[in-house]
Amino acid sequence: MIVQLKKSISPEHLEDVVNRIESRGYKVTEVNTVEGKYLIGLGKAEIDLREFGHIPGIIDIHRVSDDYKLVSRKWKVKPSVVDLGDGVSIGEGSFTEMAGPCSIESEEQINMSLDHLLENNVKIMRGGVYKPRSSPYSFRGLGIDGLKLWHRLAKAKGIKIISEVMQVSQIEAMYPYVDVFQVGARNTQNFNLLDELGRVDKPVLIKRGISGTVDELLYSAEYVFSAGNEKLILCERGIRTYERSSRNTLDINAIPILKEKSHLPVIADPSHAIGIRRHVPDVALACVMAGADGIIFETHKNPEEAFSDGQQTLDFRESAKLIRAMRETYALRQSFYA
Ligand code: PEP
Ligand code: MN
Repeated sequence: MIVQLKKSISPEHLEDVVNRIESRGYKVTEVNTVEGKYLIGLGKAEIDLREFGHIPGIIDIHRVSDDYKLVSRKWKVKPSVVDLGDGVSIGEGSFTEMAGPCSIESEEQINMSLDHLLENNVKIMRGGVYKPRSSPYSFRGLGIDGLKLWHRLAKAKGIKIISEVMQVSQIEAMYPYVDVFQVGARNTQNFNLLDELGRVDKPVLIKRGISGTVDELLYSAEYVFSAGNEKLILCERGIRTYERSSRNTLDINAIPILKEKSHLPVIADPSHAIGIRRHVPDVALACVMAGADGIIFETHKNPEEAFSDGQQTLDFRESAKLIRAMRETYALRQSFYA
């Protein structure tokens, strides 16, 4: 059960609601976000909502049978839109491209990427400064200095930044320089990280874990929401299966399923899913047709020279072509369901 409260509810009324729910054997958790105030009640007994629905300060009461509550669409039927400011938002009603290199490498590379995005009217640049690499000897990112440089250049050109945070200790340092924190597939179930991102007032994109189920992704999002941050975006990026012909197996089913189960925006990452440059556009377009609210993909001036993931990175010509095709595909889907 979710009880949606007015932020102005008096302490006496709040206590009254909590007591009444707890007296029915429910465990009650209070959640405060920038946007709202909620009580999450977990229990089995039937509760007659008329018993306390009249208490001043209650906006609404929702029965949510899913084990995740706040991210469920069972209480918030209208899809959420995450606002990044300056007219940039992610979610229902628009299609979002996020593009850029796997890793931030140099001032020249950042500038070339920014110009490519500007030319194609893309508002969000992706890039890693902390890179989770399978081998400790691979390039592991430029760190906070790279992020500061990127931020200075991107801000001057009006482009937003999404970048991966790998551990709790990086959040504070990264905070002034990112517009969206990315939680990578290796950290989807780093619950300490998720808890801490709940205390941050910036959007968080959570990727599906390498072997994670759809429900586990939703639980991860619930961690962030219940710790206080509603600005969440889910990302399908492929999972590990027995199939070896592609880097990961894109679970395209997850896109409509996540959108049905949750009110959060859902985007897809075709680059890390298939991991093969020449096939990235086909997979991206399939994700758009499956209902993704946006696509995050890797592009680089010279993919052959990229410090990481060059094998799945589009050059700027391929990227521009894909951006056009995605917009057309999105419009086609919209007209199809109009
Ligand atoms: C990335 O986006 O560069 C990345 C490492 O992705 P993932 O966490 O999906 O592997
Ligand atoms: Mn990558």
